[in-house]
Order: sequence, then C-alpha cells, then structure tokens
Amino acid sequence: MGKPTGFMEIARKTDSELDPIERLKNWKEFKIHGDDKERRAQGARCMDCGTPFCHTGHIVSGMASGCPINNLIPEWNDLVFRGRWREALDRLHKTNNFPEFTGRVCPAPCEGSCVLGVIEPPVTIKNNECAIIDKGWEEGWMTPRQPETRTGKKVAVVGSGPAGLACADQLNQAGHEVTVFERADRIGGLLMYGIPNMKLDKATVDRRVKLLEQEGVTFVCGTEIGKDLPAQQLVDEFDAVVLCVGATRPRDLPIPGRELKGIHFAMEFLHANTKSLLDSGLADGHYLSARDKHVVVIGGGDTGNDCLGTSMRHGCRSLVNFEIVPESPHERAADNPWPQWPKVFRVDYGHEEAAAKFGRDPREYRTESLEFVGDDQGNVKKIRTVEVDWSKPVPGKAPFSRVPGSEREFDADLVLLAMGFLGPEKTIAEQLGLAVDPRSNFQAEFGKYATNVDKVFACGDCRRGQSLVVWAIAEGRQAARECDRFLMGATQLP
Ligand SMILES: Cc1cc2nc3c(=O)[nH]c(=O)nc-3n(C[C@H](O)[C@H](O)[C@H](O)COP(=O)(O)OP(=O)(O)OC[C@H]3O[C@@H](n4cnc5c(N)ncnc54)[C@H](O)[C@@H]3O)c2cc1C
Ligand code: SF4
Repeated sequence: MGKPTGFMEIARKTDSELDPIERLKNWKEFKIHGDDKERRAQGARCMDCGTPFCHTGHIVSGMASGCPINNLIPEWNDLVFRGRWREALDRLHKTNNFPEFTGRVCPAPCEGSCVLGVIEPPVTIKNNECAIIDKGWEEGWMTPRQPETRTGKKVAVVGSGPAGLACADQLNQAGHEVTVFERADRIGGLLMYGIPNMKLDKATVDRRVKLLEQEGVTFVCGTEIGKDLPAQQLVDEFDAVVLCVGATRPRDLPIPGRELKGIHFAMEFLHANTKSLLDSGLADGHYLSARDKHVVVIGGGDTGNDCLGTSMRHGCRSLVNFEIVPESPHERAADNPWPQWPKVFRVDYGHEEAAAKFGRDPREYRTESLEFVGDDQGNVKKIRTVEVDWSKPVPGKAPFSRVPGSEREFDADLVLLAMGFLGPEKTIAEQLGLAVDPRSNFQAEFGKYATNVDKVFACGDCRRGQSLVVWAIAEGRQAARECDRFLMGATQLP
C-alpha cells in the first residue's frame, strides 16, 4: 500500500494550472504535469482498501462507478509512492492502452468512488496515472513491441478514435494484420479533432499513433468507408471488420430562424479550428472565428465547454452558455451517495476562463431557446429564450414547463449547438444491413460486440452512444478480445 498513515498526514493536491487569463494567449496545454516529489506524496495517500471501489467499473444508477477499464489503481499508487515508476508503468499498461489520454481528459469516475473520498478528498488517481505515463515517454521506456508471431489473419478497423486505436493495438499484439481506415486527414477521432489542443496536445496523439505504426498497425487516412470504399468490400477482403465510427450525428435545434447564417454545430467549429491550428497555426483562416463576436453556446458537457474555451482563445466579445437543466447541488445529494459518480456542481476550464475575463460564469441554467432572430442580411443577431420549471412537468409533452413572463433576449453573432449526438451515421448500416438499437446505435451486445452480420463487430460510441474516452478504450479492448476469439477459436487477450 501507500504510506500507512499517508492519508492522515498529506492533503490532496492536484496538478496545478496556468492562470486562466495567461493561458488564453495560446493553445498549449494549461495543466502543469510532472512534479515527481508531489506525485509520490499523493501516491502515499492511497489506503490499499480491502475492497478498492476505485477500480470496479460497475454501473451504479446508470453511471460508471470506478474505473471502466479496471485500472489496478492501488497497485500503481503504491509503486508511485515508492518511486518504482517503471513497474508502475507496466502495471498501468496491463489495463490501459493509452494512459496519456485518460490521464489528461478522463473525468475520473475512479476518484468519485475512492474509499478515502467517504471522509476526505479522494486520492489524485488521474494525475498519478498521467505522471506514470509521461515519465515512461520521458525516460525512453515507450519502445515498439513486436508480436512474437503473426497469424496471417487480416482485420479492418473502421474509425481511429480511442475505440479503434485500442482495438487495433490489442489485435496487432495478438498477431493479426490490422488496417485502420479513417475518413479524416489525421488519425485520432475525437482525440484529434474533438477535444481541443489545450486539453490534449495533438503531439501526444501523434506520438502514440507513430508507436502503433512502428509496431505494425497500418493507418489509411482520407478514406470514408461506405463512400470511398463500399463497406461490403471490407467484409469480402478482410477476415473480420470492427466498426468504431463514433456517434457523429449531432442533435439539431429546429426552432424558428434555424436557417440564419452564424448557427453551427459544435463539431464544425471545433474540428475546423484544430485542423487550421495544426495545418497553419490558424493562418489559413479555414475556421469559424469567434473573434469580436457575441457567442452563445447551447448545451453543456465537454462539447459545450470546449466551445467556450475555443471562443475565449479567439477573443470573443461576450460568451453565454445555455443549459436546459438546473444548476447541480454543490454537495452530493441524498439520492447520490458514494460510490456513485458525484453529480455535483463543477467549474470546467472554459467556465473558469470566461469568468476570469468577463467577471461571471457564462452558464444560464433552466434556459430554453425559443427563436433565433436575424438581420436583413440573414445573419443571426439575437436569441429569444424562456426559463423552464422542472418541478412542473407538462404531462405527455415535456418534463418541464415554461415560466410565464420569463422571456429574455441575448445578443448572438455566433451560435454553437452542443446538445449531444444521435448515434452513428446510417450509410454503413444500410450498406451491410446492420441492425440498430432503439437509440439508432449499431446493435451489438455489451461484452460480445458481434453485430447481426457475420464477421462484423462494433464498439465505442457507435455502439454505446456518446460516452467517454475511457469507455471507448474499454470497448475497443473487449471487442478485440471477441474478434480474436472469432478468428482463432480461443483468445488470450484480456
Ligand atoms: C467535443 C468533445 C469533447 C469531448 N471531451 C471529452 C473529454 O474531455 N473526456 C472524455 O472522456 N470524453 C470526451 N468526449 C467523448 C469522447 O471523445 C468520445 O466518447 C470518444 O472519442 C469515442 O471514441 P470512439 O472511438 O468510439 O469514436 P470517435 O472518437 O468519435 O472516432 C470515430 C472516428 O471514426 C471516423 N469515421 C466515422 N465514419 C467513418 C467512415 N465511414 N469511414 C472511416 N472513418 C469514419 C471518424 O472520422 C472518427 O475519427 C468528448 C466528445 C466531444 C465531441
Ligand atoms: S482511466 Fe479514468 S477512471 Fe480509470 S483510473 Fe484513469 S482517470 Fe480513473
């Protein structure tokens, strides 16, 4: 275990961050990682509990409680405390293909179920994870691992997000010949073109992709399956196909004025920004600029927050973020006990930056958009809204009612729609005759991942719906295991 009395002597200390105003000057990561001494002290807080809930990964009340990939957290916390970083890295890689991604972007359900969290602030599990893998890269321990034998089986992985990358990594290590097809010009899925650079530096993604290439995975960019190559061709030419195409259909807001110019889906904004940043440092101008604009982001979550952070770095004139739900409680509610994921009020980086610059948190809660109002050139200029009351549902119509007389108007030159996603696009399912579930995701049982079409598997957001990087990695690993079992009749993959 960590130091037996560590949790009594040492206070929780997370990685520090650059000042919110300072960090707006560039697109670099704003978390400051890597103080070994501090991390070792934080590892000492781990109590080696009899039942470490942090790594269970069970679903409690519809949400993950503990780490979905079952990271061996107490084991590597102890190794960090002892400064045995190399062993900690090996232990971490047993369950997680890409700790440098989760160590940066995971919301850390593990910390929500840390036993120490019952009485004290939990162990800094996510920061410790990041420190282990960052040290691994710094020390030159991350070298290519070649599988001992090749099976002669060929697998096509469609989509290069965390699910596709984890699946490809596992199948390659099992000796199969893996080709990853990606329609974008760069590999990484939402790790590359969703999550912005200040949260996850794209050099970190490229570095891992290069390692996978050196280990034998083939990547084919700029090829959309279903358009550039018929999906059936993959089924005919490969021994198995794993679909990891993500949940890419955005939820729209079909209210009056939706056709006005200046209203965009969040992903149009975020994808173009990162591409332009990487291609030219934003010099090519091939992105939607929020500079000097009144920006309204509709919808919260990671996507909404990334739109806030990106708009702030462009230099927006004002920034508002509509949430339809009420503000979360600041402490766990009675019906949300440990070890459930704590549904409490959080201040994410975009909120913090907007508050630092404009003097107030940008969130407007319980706000429903009624209408976009334009000028005579067809540009959006304002949004009309109304407050909603969740304590008074309208039976058969809505879980809330509108509060009479609460209409407001907000200035809006750029509106970003971040209201979630409605499953994968339909082309591949139509071409292959894939069954979909009632939420229009590819139908494949959790833990089995086989679709109704022989040789075809599905995992990640296209199967479970919009989720988290850690779940995509978990599903990619498990789908690889089932695919290997299908190809070889048995499997040794975890
Ligand atoms: C803006 C944003 C921010 C987020 N931030 C976080 C965060 O901070 N932390 C977190 O844990 N989760 C976050 N998420 C969620 C997380 O990114 C996803 O759950 C995760 O990336 C899903 O992985 P995936 O591999 O299933 O799909 P994706 O990452 O979506 O990858 C799917 C890939 O498939 C490709 N593709 C699709 N169709 C085809 C086709 N026909 N042919 C070839 N390629 C195709 C796509 O181009 C894409 O590259 C965020 C999501 C968004 C949208
Ligand atoms: S992957 Fe996420 S849940 Fe798992 S240990 Fe890391 S931060 Fe915690």
